[in-house]
Amino acid sequence: MLVRVPTLYVPRYPTPPLSFPGVSVAILKVAQMGHPVLRRVAEPVDPAAIRTPAFRRVCQDLLDTMDEYDGAGLAAPQVHLSVRVVVLTLDGSEGPEVWVNPVLTPLTDRTSATYEGCLSVEGMRGRVARPARIHVRFLDDEGAERAYVLQGFPAVVAQHECDHLDGVLYIDKADPRTLAFLPEFRKFGRMDEYEDAPPEDLDDEPELGDAVIEVPADLSAAEALALAEPHLLSSEEE
Ligand code: ZN
Repeated sequence: MLVRVPTLYVPRYPTPPLSFPGVSVAILKVAQMGHPVLRRVAEPVDPAAIRTPAFRRVCQDLLDTMDEYDGAGLAAPQVHLSVRVVVLTLDGSEGPEVWVNPVLTPLTDRTSATYEGCLSVEGMRGRVARPARIHVRFLDDEGAERAYVLQGFPAVVAQHECDHLDGVLYIDKADPRTLAFLPEFRKFGRMDEYEDAPPEDLDDEPELGDAVIEVPADLSAAEALALAEPHLLSSEEE
């Protein structure tokens, strides 16, 4: 049978190009605080599963959901999948990436205190102090071993997302006196500015600058730090 193709064919999903022909974008429901999946320790992913169509689909759905809600990151347990996968954007110019079975190691006692929010704790902000420099090793979406030394905001995002894999939410670590609902946060700003005495971890040391340095995955955290250190110093001076 001959099928005539209309001359003015408008595709149903004109943008963006889909990685799986015939599969449309899926925006997943984000679990809210109180759902047990957010408190479970997530299961490691079998590396052999990474390149399967089912796993790629999960990664694409995570990326699409993160994009829909303008998140800097999203962890699989937040969409009711208790597996050790996070998607995150470390650096806006590089685009989002997928980390499977990530392992984090703090590289400094210095902390960076940042106001955080979470798609699973809707409408709140709170200040969390976290190690300002970390090493992370993971498998990427092709199953390759990768590693970074991260400093500043990228280190915060990585720790926030990877905490989800251990059933930890940022409000567990936030100074409770800094917690604010979003309309009040927008109106009054940081709660710690209203304190009579500033919190001890807000010292006078300058914040460490942002840095994303890819390092060979076979190095130990200490070896990776030694390799990355010259770049970290220059970003600190910026
Ligand atoms: Zn979160």
